Amino acid sequence: MKKPLIVIIGIISLFVGQACDQQQSTTDQDSPMLSSHTEQAEGNEAGEASAGPDSEQNEEPGIEVVTDPQSVAVLVNEEYALMDGYEPDDLVYPDIPFIFEEKVEKRLMRQEAADAVEQLFAAAKDDGMTLLGVSAYRSYQTQKSLFDYYVAQDGEELARTYSAVPGTSEHQTGLAIDVVGEDLSCAVEDCFADTVEAKWLEENAADYGFIIRYMEGKEELTGFKYEPWHLRYVGVEMAQEITKLGVTLEEYMNAVPVSDQTPIEN
Ligand SMILES: [Zn+2]
Repeated sequence: MKKPLIVIIGIISLFVGQACDQQQSTTDQDSPMLSSHTEQAEGNEAGEASAGPDSEQNEEPGIEVVTDPQSVAVLVNEEYALMDGYEPDDLVYPDIPFIFEEKVEKRLMRQEAADAVEQLFAAAKDDGMTLLGVSAYRSYQTQKSLFDYYVAQDGEELARTYSAVPGTSEHQTGLAIDVVGEDLSCAVEDCFADTVEAKWLEENAADYGFIIRYMEGKEELTGFKYEPWHLRYVGVEMAQEITKLGVTLEEYMNAVPVSDQTPIEN
């Protein structure tokens, strides 16, 4: 039950966006979470949305590299990783409120997802509620710094049980965003599911191209804990289909279940 505290600390200390991946809070200004980015490898050419996970074998056994990371349908999880240093080439700042003011990395999303999230938030507003962004894009380097920090603290085996390995966080696609209601209640906590905002998202997110990515009871399939606050842009048509079917992106893509991993946070 660490999240409310983490969020409050985060607002003060500028790295709230890490909360979704954070087990221990820290306000250490020298934390690797604040380390600067390195040059990124160029991404693949944009591809069409494909019906299955395109990937090649990675050097690391069991993990495959996604070959079409620019597709809005890209599947990224513990089995399908983005190539080292992948960075989307169309990241922009969506015009939506976040729980922090700074114009920083975690505010970024890919252009198409940014346009969609603006419409999503506007529609919520029309229905009388204010959504806030908590954390959107997270670079490979940021995830790596986080992960390395946890490895140094707890060792790799334990770190892997609660933090995404660099390249396996959906936040690196620029298509994911964690959200919360205006009162910040249950931010990045399971009880967010009981808020009016979460109910509204369940009913409406798909119409704007978003799915609630990590479903309850599907942890074995996704490899991630239930996260009712984590929205993933896949485009309207696919989002509506996935939502109607009530399946995970893994099931929709007929991918190999991530069953040998302990569900983690993203
Ligand atoms: Zn998330």
